[in-house]
Amino acid sequence: MVTLADRLDQLTRQGDLLQPLENGALRCVACAHRCLIKPGRRGICKVRFNQDGELRVPWGYVAALQVDPIEKKPFAHLMPGAEALTFGMLGCDFHCDYCQNWLTSQALRDPQIDLDPAYIHRVSPENLVAHALRNGAQVVVSSYNEPLITAEWAVDVFKVARQQGLLCAFVSNGNATPEALAYLRPHLDAYKVDLKTMQDRQYRRLGGVLQHVLDTIKNAHALGLWVEVVTLIVPGFNDSPEELWDAARYIASVSKDIPWHVTAFHPDYKMTDPPPTSARSLQQAADIGQEAGLHYVYAGNLPGRVGSLEDTFCPQCSERLIARRGYVVMDYRITAEGTCPRCGQKIAGVWPQDPNQVRLNGFGYPRRVR
Ligand code: SF4
Repeated sequence: MVTLADRLDQLTRQGDLLQPLENGALRCVACAHRCLIKPGRRGICKVRFNQDGELRVPWGYVAALQVDPIEKKPFAHLMPGAEALTFGMLGCDFHCDYCQNWLTSQALRDPQIDLDPAYIHRVSPENLVAHALRNGAQVVVSSYNEPLITAEWAVDVFKVARQQGLLCAFVSNGNATPEALAYLRPHLDAYKVDLKTMQDRQYRRLGGVLQHVLDTIKNAHALGLWVEVVTLIVPGFNDSPEELWDAARYIASVSKDIPWHVTAFHPDYKMTDPPPTSARSLQQAADIGQEAGLHYVYAGNLPGRVGSLEDTFCPQCSERLIARRGYVVMDYRITAEGTCPRCGQKIAGVWPQDPNQVRLNGFGYPRRVR
């Protein structure tokens, strides 16, 4: 019987993100775990492995493929209203108890998950980009599982996508290395980082290290990528005012123009005890972000229940520039020059050249790829 792992091992190519070591060993540098992998062994993510001294990495398949509103990623300052062809593979370098994509992210690490190999769909970069164009997508996004561990595949897709004038983005846990960011930079426009907690002790429970994520936010911004940060507010886990102040101050220290999304948790996977995040809790987190000086703070996952915290305002004159409800853009007023129409303030982000082309009142939900 062909197992999922067997099937995945066939869908690989030689990796780029590594340092060769002695006796056929190598160090993978795709994520900050920097696994030392001897011949015949695998990295922590399980999807990258050493075969006779060669690093093999995932290539040529997707386990999830959808056309999502860009607002779902979430990106609020990257081509509002755009459709984003979003692809994911399998595996992750973290093991968060509350993962909302646990079926694909933990398929190779959690013995309780019995994923049918039929889940895997072979595809070429050219096919994926053809799907994007046929479905009217303006952005191609690597998401659903952790894209850093499949960075070579993403780069091969993005090379083709950029030739077609599409923008390319990562939705990532931020456990990157400087080597991985440098490798991605020529092919990537935007990077969304999950900042899950400001407590290193809590990060280690999830399989990460706080400083690595903080470094990714700073380094991705310094490289000129468009960066947005998301913090899922989990009651009792990361929602103390002190911790939220730490997060907001850190983001503001990198740039006050980085949007911060505070989003609502719902019980999932192995974390079923905490209650869902309330609108009031999101409002309090957003207040802290604004008091810390961040120009753009958003509350997510509770559409219609967080007042104006779904909208974009000019940080200079407070004019409402984008009105949203959930993943739907209802009004868009940023000029073709990327400025506020009232006071002329430059608004940080990646905006459409023709504001009239912004889709208003669009689908607002994921669509199957045609
Ligand atoms: S991607 Fe990260 S977890 Fe996977 S092998 Fe490389 S360093 Fe290890």
